[in-house]
Amino acid sequence: MARTVERIALKTMTPGTERVLTVFRYGRPGARPKAYLQAAIHANEFPGTMALHHLVPMLDKADKAGKIKGEIVIVPAANPIGLAQVLHNTHLGRYDFFGRDNFNRNYHDLTEPVAERVKKRLTNSAGRNVKLIREAGLAVLNAMKPANEIQDQRLQLMRRSIDADIVIDLHCDAQAAMHHFISKRDWPAIADLSAEIGAVAVLYNAPYPTTMTFSGCNGSWWSKLADRFPKHPIPQACQSSTIEYRGQHHVTHEFGALDAANLFRFLVRRGVVAGDPGKPPKPLCAATPMDGMDVGYAPSAGILTYMKPEGSKVRKGETICEVIDPIAADPPKARTPVKSKTAGMLFSRRPDGRLAWPGMVCFRIAGPKPLKHRKGSTGLDD
Ligand SMILES: [Zn+2]
Repeated sequence: MARTVERIALKTMTPGTERVLTVFRYGRPGARPKAYLQAAIHANEFPGTMALHHLVPMLDKADKAGKIKGEIVIVPAANPIGLAQVLHNTHLGRYDFFGRDNFNRNYHDLTEPVAERVKKRLTNSAGRNVKLIREAGLAVLNAMKPANEIQDQRLQLMRRSIDADIVIDLHCDAQAAMHHFISKRDWPAIADLSAEIGAVAVLYNAPYPTTMTFSGCNGSWWSKLADRFPKHPIPQACQSSTIEYRGQHHVTHEFGALDAANLFRFLVRRGVVAGDPGKPPKPLCAATPMDGMDVGYAPSAGILTYMKPEGSKVRKGETICEVIDPIAADPPKARTPVKSKTAGMLFSRRPDGRLAWPGMVCFRIAGPKPLKHRKGSTGLDD
């Protein structure tokens, strides 16, 4: 079956304007496993879009050879609203102009409405329950009437992802090494993806993500429903995760081709595409808890400079960066260090020379032990 291209016009916000979501689809609708991949929901994060730019021709070739066994949905630019946010010659793309929402928040937690629909119909068959829950989830989403463009965008994306076996949301950080946000319930089942992409840090939410991110909402309703109905078998039917494809400036053909090849091999390994994936690569790290992730905040205003590159293993108490007050009378005393509070992998930081303000996130370190000051925080926001 040839690839189909769907163009979805979003609800218009101002007369004479219209934005369109573009969705590629491979395989027979309803074929399993179903994989859903989207990029740039934070519309200024293009490494994932570059990976999909290289993945699509590979899938076209596999398709021509009759190798697409499951169903694959690809959304290379998942946020046309954010793509249009060019202001003062600068592209923004992370927060909605209308309501200031983070574009990767406020997706729909389907647990409650789906529980209502299925509570009297669940069976003793895990397979039948999965089918029932997926149908109920789609019915809930299809019954929703979006009030505006951003709600429409969220709904249109979720309607195409919610019944998938695998959901991968492609993001990036400011300046970062490859890392992977997952749920603890998917570990170690999803370790093959972490290893395949070459993640140097894998961080898990447990038991559920507290912010309604796209990947969180597509995965967590399964375990919430399983907890809600313990007498009925409800498996974790969707492995949903967020890949952080390094930093915003890591958009090259070399990275794109490498990342696409890794995603393609993962799809082969999972039987979505036929073929031999070869030996699985060795994982580069173990998964660590989200509340073991140290987040370094700027204590004051100034300019940032770093002592450590991303991807460094650091000790507790090491100076990761300094905030420099450029107008202090005594320059040597104008440097305020920001130190690590855990030993671990410094996987994300800002570029040198950024303006810092009090409370700004300067870096993130994946550590193995839960940290008191991080308890209960998902740490995904800034
Ligand atoms: Zn992002």
